[in-house]
Amino acid sequence: MKIIQLKNKFNPIAVIFYLLLVLFSCQTAKNQVENTSPNDILIPGHWQFAGHLGEYIDRISEQRILDKKNWDVIYPETEEAFRLREDDNNYPKNGQWRGEFWGKYLLSAIAAARYYHSDELNVRIADAVKGLLSTQEPNGYIGTYAHSDFVVGNTWNVWDQKYTLWGLVEAWELLGDDHILAAAKQFADHLITEVGPEAVDIVKTGNFYGMPSSSILYPMVKLYNSTGEKKYLEYAEYIVKQWSEHPAELPDILNKGLNGKPVHTWFPKTDPFEWAKSYEFTSCVEGLVELYKVTGNKQYFVAATNIHSVLVEWERTPVGSVSFNDKYVGSRGLINTLSEICDAVYWNRLSFKLFKQTGDEKYIDEIERTLYNSLLCSFNTEGNWGLRRLRMSHTHIPAQNHFLQHHQCCTDNLPRGLFQAAEAVLTTKNGDVCLSLFSEGEGDIVLPSGRKSHVKIEGDVLNNAGIRTILSLDQAEQFGFVIRIPKWSNQPIIKVNGIPQNGSISDRWMTINRTWKNGDVIEISFNLSVRWEAFDTTKSTTLFHKIDFYDNEWAKMKFAGGSNKVNNQRYGHVKSIPVNEALPHKPAVTFFYGPLALARDIRVTGADVFSTIEDTSLSKNISFRLIDSPLGIWKAFEINLGNEKSVRFCDFSSAGNTWDKLSLFNTWCILKK
Ligand SMILES: [Zn+2]
Repeated sequence: MKIIQLKNKFNPIAVIFYLLLVLFSCQTAKNQVENTSPNDILIPGHWQFAGHLGEYIDRISEQRILDKKNWDVIYPETEEAFRLREDDNNYPKNGQWRGEFWGKYLLSAIAAARYYHSDELNVRIADAVKGLLSTQEPNGYIGTYAHSDFVVGNTWNVWDQKYTLWGLVEAWELLGDDHILAAAKQFADHLITEVGPEAVDIVKTGNFYGMPSSSILYPMVKLYNSTGEKKYLEYAEYIVKQWSEHPAELPDILNKGLNGKPVHTWFPKTDPFEWAKSYEFTSCVEGLVELYKVTGNKQYFVAATNIHSVLVEWERTPVGSVSFNDKYVGSRGLINTLSEICDAVYWNRLSFKLFKQTGDEKYIDEIERTLYNSLLCSFNTEGNWGLRRLRMSHTHIPAQNHFLQHHQCCTDNLPRGLFQAAEAVLTTKNGDVCLSLFSEGEGDIVLPSGRKSHVKIEGDVLNNAGIRTILSLDQAEQFGFVIRIPKWSNQPIIKVNGIPQNGSISDRWMTINRTWKNGDVIEISFNLSVRWEAFDTTKSTTLFHKIDFYDNEWAKMKFAGGSNKVNNQRYGHVKSIPVNEALPHKPAVTFFYGPLALARDIRVTGADVFSTIEDTSLSKNISFRLIDSPLGIWKAFEINLGNEKSVRFCDFSSAGNTWDKLSLFNTWCILKK
């Protein structure tokens, strides 16, 4: 409007401005023409883990999802919340988040149905959807808020609706019942009348700069993919546009992501509900990648990869968790960390999205680190309840139930994180078969001919004996078998049917091209040694607060207690820790073996798990041996740190797994100068 007014007066400055605008518009149009809609270059096959990891996943699945009796206790209250509509009992003061659990729980169940090929679970999911849709209003609304339009202020209404929409779209993908998609459309259409371009601005809804609300971006793009209806794509683009239109208040994810600055420097505020809440933020970035796949707008992809890089550098801990106490604050500068399990799950979601897009080994490296360390220690040993906060020393913090008796965000999200890791094991790329993770298990992959091959991995990669990969094919076929060369091994020795192979290696992937036959065996022997990563003390200088602030927050965290009396009784002993027990912010190292971070746990280390180690010993060759593990510990090691001093460690995921002082543990080794 302003430009037209100036033009009418023939202002030469305005003409130049106008010409620049036209030029810019042409440039933008040109970019859009050049961008093509990109497809994933990696296509996942199906995989089921065996061995230690597989048993962990099976246990959790059985306890939380597969067992019918457990389902009948755990599922119904998620649906009932949509009848009771109690999330805005405090209307208009604040709203709660009972409404997220139907979607979160169902998304894990859908992933389980795929992982286990369970027809019975499909039936239960169909019933669950039917139950939920019986609560849908004639106007399309489905929700746990009595006031559907209570979206501004301290509320989680739109966030809840994100999970309902996501659950419905994935249920339709699984079951193919078009009634579900029709209901999802009606539901989304109702939301658009209350939150959107013609209604309340989405970035003004809920907490944390509207990030939880606007992470509905991802299921909205999925809804567009499912229906082809442009209005959903336009809504997705509207969300991204809104981020950019409120740069003073918002994370402005696209523009700041393009700048490549560390995420914690975007947020000068630390007031309640204004920090960079981690997995809500990561979920928005995942949505951006999905939107890139539809629009081909490369800026979305560049922003997402930049953000991933700075999160690795500034937020990811040695054990693959991200953020401090659910905030992106520059957590790599903190030695005493406290991480939400959901943050690790969504971190792996983003890494997997980028891995499928690029095939870049650095993303599978992140997935593996988070899987074998943070995700593998997120549940109790029975597999029925999860952690709320993961520590790298002392005692982990179990989850308290949130409103419903058997639900909490991390406990509901974790299974999905594990099933997703299975999708990363075996993929195809331009007709080649890629093996990315080396855990025992078996799966199927579609070959270039369209036939299926069954692939089985035997052997424990961590016992130095290596693994055997056995191919089953209906008939001989030529293709490349591509094996990841992980950074934690020197070049592995690879044999096919006993004959050493010298396949071509490119960007940490070795390709063996040949005509494969039924029963061919690929042996992979890794060269494993103990290595370490150092704590970067220089990163502590960019934190919002002084170290004391974070140490206090770290120390005061305890099991908060909820309404579930059994859990309260069971985990009530998990108290806060005296702040003087926080580790000093001094040079320190974390040891690794293969993908495993190592920790000292009193059950294997005995005595003092916090003692310092000699800095000088790290310059010498460190020798180690695997030793017998005590009950409850997966892997134990004796490491000779020089000076004839040996210290016993175990895998990080086993350390502290009793969630009490009986497994007091410590991952960082402070260096004695
Ligand atoms: Zn959580």
